[in-house]
Amino acid sequence: MTVSISMSVAFYNDIQQHLFPRADRREQGGFMFCRFDKYRREFQVIEWRPLAGSDYAFQERDYLELSDKTKASLIKSAHDLQVSLIEIHSHPRQIKVAFSIADWIGFKEFVPHIRWRLGKRPYAALVFGHSCVDGFAWIDESKLPVSIDGINIGNSFVKTTGNSFKALERGIYGQI
Ligand SMILES: [Zn+2]
Repeated sequence: MTVSISMSVAFYNDIQQHLFPRADRREQGGFMFCRFDKYRREFQVIEWRPLAGSDYAFQERDYLELSDKTKASLIKSAHDLQVSLIEIHSHPRQIKVAFSIADWIGFKEFVPHIRWRLGKRPYAALVFGHSCVDGFAWIDESKLPVSIDGINIGNSFVKTTGNSFKALERGIYGQI
């Protein structure tokens, strides 16, 4: 069973612009607020929030960490709206994107916490390269994510690289 995401062309363009600014080569991030259609297994993006410098505890060329205040504010917004969250960030220098080992370590800590806080709603993460994307979704009780198949953007479908799930299966991220 595949999992996909749908969003408007306008959201997609705004997100691309935010994730790849001309004069800043650090990683950038944001969050999308979504309804999850459990029959289609599709996250439908209804809103998104770019993250700015003050939202981060650390923002480097290859590492992002949110401040506790930002995490609390995102959880509160998602809770109030009764929606799922998708975290997004960029890997500006990667050709065929996949999550890093640091990303995976972050998921192991953050995903169970945020899902517990949001009533076990599905959660997902996307990593964007300049012209590619990859993602994981946590839908059921399993700690193991599933690969996101792709993103429906208006009338087009952007398929993920699938590289993160291959890395997971090969044990590259270490213990699950
Ligand atoms: Zn990353």
